[in-house]
Amino acid sequence: MASKSKERKNRKKMKCSECGTITYYIRKNVSLQNRLELSKHCKHCTKHTLHKETK
Ligand SMILES: [Zn+2]
Repeated sequence: MASKSKERKNRKKMKCSECGTITYYIRKNVSLQNRLELSKHCKHCTKHTLHKETK
């Protein structure tokens, strides 16, 4: 149970680049400093869009 707070700290939000809605939460390795960009399905756009990591 002690590891739960550590997981939360590394959690990142993935935001749709088209409508700006945060649709996904990911757990990211802290050693990766580059920003993630993923193609994900957005519920608002009802299609696959580019999602960018946000704080
Ligand atoms: Zn969207």
